[in-house]
Amino acid sequence: MSGKDGNHEDKFVSMVSAKVDVDLRLSDYAPCSKLKVAAHEVEQPRFPVIDFHSHLDAQSPKRVLGVMDACGVEKIVNITMRTGEEAIESIDRFHGAAPGRFATIGWMDWSGVERSDFTQLSLGRLERLVEHGACGIKFWKDIGLTVRDGNGALLRVDDERLAPIFDKAAELNIPVIFHTADPDAFFDPIDRFNERYEELAAHPDWSFYGLPFSKASLLEQRDRVIARHPKTTFVAAHMAESSEDLSHVATLLERHANLHVDISARTAELGRQPYAARAFKIRFADRILFGTDLVPEVAMYRLHYRFLETADEYFEYPSHASRQGRWNIYGLFLPADVLEKVYRANALKLLHANFR
Ligand SMILES: [Zn+2]
Repeated sequence: MSGKDGNHEDKFVSMVSAKVDVDLRLSDYAPCSKLKVAAHEVEQPRFPVIDFHSHLDAQSPKRVLGVMDACGVEKIVNITMRTGEEAIESIDRFHGAAPGRFATIGWMDWSGVERSDFTQLSLGRLERLVEHGACGIKFWKDIGLTVRDGNGALLRVDDERLAPIFDKAAELNIPVIFHTADPDAFFDPIDRFNERYEELAAHPDWSFYGLPFSKASLLEQRDRVIARHPKTTFVAAHMAESSEDLSHVATLLERHANLHVDISARTAELGRQPYAARAFKIRFADRILFGTDLVPEVAMYRLHYRFLETADEYFEYPSHASRQGRWNIYGLFLPADVLEKVYRANALKLLHANFR
């Protein structure tokens, strides 16, 4: 293979070293896979499904029920994003439309956070929600990032003033859902190295780049609360916001017996690491909840079933319009006992006491 002289480049060397700069716009690039691999559409899930993470406030119960009936969804947990009387109205609208098919998780109401009696106020609000049929309370990522107390200071997730609320949740036997921080890429610059570039370009407000504190510090605040309230059941949404590092999620679940995770909006992350994701789901089958965090649609649910049930390779993940990253996913072909727990049994355990 050695060249005969220095003036003529070897054909093979020039072939393997050729590179080119192109001007094709990223938004125009839409390659079509030429792979010929088995594809199994899963119309009905192997077991009835409980979607533990959905937001239905803008939906009509009738339309959603149509979707549920078409693709084997037994119940949806509506995490209402409304508060006060509007939350009560949302509970009534869904629970009244089809008893037993919908449950509701309330949204932490920060109005009045500047008041000195905010803790008492929150305890009363939580009791009212639960009396009205709510079966959980969600703390969104605004706590830790934007919610400020009466002195204008950022309220930490692990602020002692909030501790009685987590104790109250244990007393009421309802889980606390945390969505703290976001994917790792949201903390990086929105540039050509960012693996979720297109998503962040579509939603620049989702970027946390340049904040004075790290993602790790936010998650530490959350984890301190989970450790401080062992009698309270917690669900860390979106794979505890650490789906890029499943060994870390495993450590969390080992450390905190009161913690569950949901898979909502993370099939993209899980499906690009199918070996690790499959082993993780089998190992922690009792602690993982099925959830979508997308608008209920038949095709969306079926894509989730295909991901969890089949060994199909290299297919599109369920997503919002701007996608999450430029990759495809691989099915996890989970065993039946694992599927049954993830689809349904784990959710029933958490909803059990307060299911209306
Ligand atoms: Zn959500």
